[in-house]
Amino acid sequence: MIRLLLSFCLFLPFSLWAENEAQYSSSTQQLIIPKVVIHNDVTQQAYKVAMQELDNKDFQLVSAEKSATDIASKFNEATYYPSSLEVQIPNVVVDEKITEQSYAVAMKQGETGFFKLLSVQASQRDTLFLNGKIYTVNPQQLWAEALYINNGKIRYVGSNEAARKLVNAKTEVIDLNGAMVMPGIQDVHMHPLEAESPFAGTCLLDNQEEDAENFIAVLQDCAPLQEATEWVLGSGHSVFTLLESERLPIEILDEAIPDRPVVIMESTSHSVWVNSKALAIAGIDKNTPNPTGGVIVKSPQTGEPTGVLFDAAGDLVMDYVWLPTEEIKELNYLGLLQALKKINSYGITSVAEARTYWKRDFQAAWKRAEKEGKLTARAVLNLWLYPHENDEVQIETLRGLYQNSATNLVKLSQIKVYSDGILVNTTAAMLAPYLSVLGDIPSQNGLNYFTEARLAKYLNALAPLGFDFHIHAIGDRGVQESLNAIEQMVYKEGRHRVTHLEVVNKVDYPRFKQLNVTADMQVAGAFAHPDHWEENEALIGERADNLIPLKSLYEAGARVTLSSDWDVSTLNPFIGMQNALTRAPQNLPDLASVIEAYTVNPAYALRQEKMTGSLEVGKFADMIVLDQNIFDIDINKISDTRVMKTYLAGKLVFER
Ligand SMILES: [Zn+2]
Repeated sequence: MIRLLLSFCLFLPFSLWAENEAQYSSSTQQLIIPKVVIHNDVTQQAYKVAMQELDNKDFQLVSAEKSATDIASKFNEATYYPSSLEVQIPNVVVDEKITEQSYAVAMKQGETGFFKLLSVQASQRDTLFLNGKIYTVNPQQLWAEALYINNGKIRYVGSNEAARKLVNAKTEVIDLNGAMVMPGIQDVHMHPLEAESPFAGTCLLDNQEEDAENFIAVLQDCAPLQEATEWVLGSGHSVFTLLESERLPIEILDEAIPDRPVVIMESTSHSVWVNSKALAIAGIDKNTPNPTGGVIVKSPQTGEPTGVLFDAAGDLVMDYVWLPTEEIKELNYLGLLQALKKINSYGITSVAEARTYWKRDFQAAWKRAEKEGKLTARAVLNLWLYPHENDEVQIETLRGLYQNSATNLVKLSQIKVYSDGILVNTTAAMLAPYLSVLGDIPSQNGLNYFTEARLAKYLNALAPLGFDFHIHAIGDRGVQESLNAIEQMVYKEGRHRVTHLEVVNKVDYPRFKQLNVTADMQVAGAFAHPDHWEENEALIGERADNLIPLKSLYEAGARVTLSSDWDVSTLNPFIGMQNALTRAPQNLPDLASVIEAYTVNPAYALRQEKMTGSLEVGKFADMIVLDQNIFDIDINKISDTRVMKTYLAGKLVFER
């Protein structure tokens, strides 16, 4: 066994180790490695203590998590005892003074004839970044040349000269060669698991296809590929292609796949296309009333469902499909790992999952990723409010799911709720009626998943427990009702946000600041660009002007965040940054304000602005290296920016 450190090491009596040591049991051939977390300052390091797989068939690795908040001291040396086949791996960090040493303890490969230990703990050497164009987002010191990281946290930001004085024998020195560095992107609205889970479906339809009959051949090809269910799943079409087809959508789908239930989600995720088998399994027929927040489109002639279910009506079917079976959860997990790679490749280090379907146990995938040391972003899960659930039962369930420990990367501390639907389906809630009617949408003013009163009920029940709300509101009525519900609350400490904000009544602009509600918007999608505003005029007239009033809200003092809504829109934040500057008249004034909307402002919304969001001493080194300085180039080139490296708490999680 190689001793990697000697100084500062104080060997304790064996008995004092007991809580923190890895134990190998030769009788069961199991190695148990406790994950011990001592205090909040070292949380991120604790998560670096990830268990790695041991690839010997004689040997099974079992994880054990213990918390030890009161261990007074520790030391850090892994020891292998050939006689007992035991590896002792203390992975305890207690106080900052010796943290540096503790993370220098990298376990070397311990090899015997019986097992091979690949790795136990990421090394946490000190790192010095030199010669950078480091944009800190800290107004006191916007730019710096050098940044020194110790134990995942920033210890110095400033000049090359001063930073060099901190170098010690274990410091890794990285020359940035003039590259731009900025804080990691924080994306407060995305759907990574739905985007990447293989279970979400093998039938990917073309959003631009105008003839629904052409989907038949595609569906017949992809249907046999579906895993883990008798259902056929997929996504991608435009609902208008179905509504404009000569035959009923259900007839087309029944012809394509008569013998298996099918559910295909439209590209916006606000309606599904189902066949007769699917409706039969879900028990939906001509007598089924519209559920709260949804519409079962029915034929005016026969009253029979046509195979299109808008908004929450789609959940009536999806709840039969996306079950939390072990097989499906495994696919979800694999999807999440895939998603994390993409997330890091775009420089994103913090995310909010904007619809954590807890009935499908989406949260299990995130928790497992963290437990297995594979979670490479901070994650705040936004637990979905099901509109057709009983309020008391749902509130009680959510109360039980709450998790907001400072020592976890994953938090279940936000609620995602829909106030309304979407404009193009005429389901967004409007103050004044739509100018034209679509399908069977019953109200001229759109629909509510949650009314103002019911939203207020949930806010009052859950916000005092620590849940912040993330409210989807697209129409001006949906936005206004969301703000009204928040305004009525007795509890004032919430950090709620309203997302999408496509049509906002002018009278509501200043209310975001007054109520401390974050205004979350997505501008990366083509539909959000002013060139496309007029496409909504047939539906809502001049209310289509200033769709997504980014500038108006910013000027009214709202805290603005910009998010992706991946995979409804692109994950690439640099496209959003460019669009935020170029979408006059509703643009942000400068790149600095755009970057704030991707860093410090979302950090506030995720309650981690004291740990992340800017590059300042004491914060975690969540940061990215870019291939160009986005302040030096034509703003129309910002979208070309590529992320070269992504660091989470000083650990490299992506490199191009
Ligand atoms: Zn979304």
